[in-house]
Amino acid sequence: MSTEQSRLQRKPLPECEECIKILQSYLDHETTPEENALVERCLQICSVCREFYEYNKTLIEMVKRLRKTCPEQLAAEIRNKILALQTC
Ligand SMILES: [Zn+2]
Repeated sequence: MSTEQSRLQRKPLPECEECIKILQSYLDHETTPEENALVERCLQICSVCREFYEYNKTLIEMVKRLRKTCPEQLAAEIRNKILALQTC
């Protein structure tokens, strides 16, 4: 039995909706200290938000890397595809 596993919430918490809503801004460092605290608390206890966070962080890093190596138009196309995926 893993204590780490059982400590994590598998279901979204009441604040998860807010957490997911501001996560993009959080990753862009555009959130207030209160919002940062909400996101960080959620990421510590909630696997749903943590997975969403890791996923978004990976995508953002990918887009940043592509921006350096690809023509701007291609980077924009990829960004649109990512945005489309997130709204599904
Ligand atoms: Zn959460």
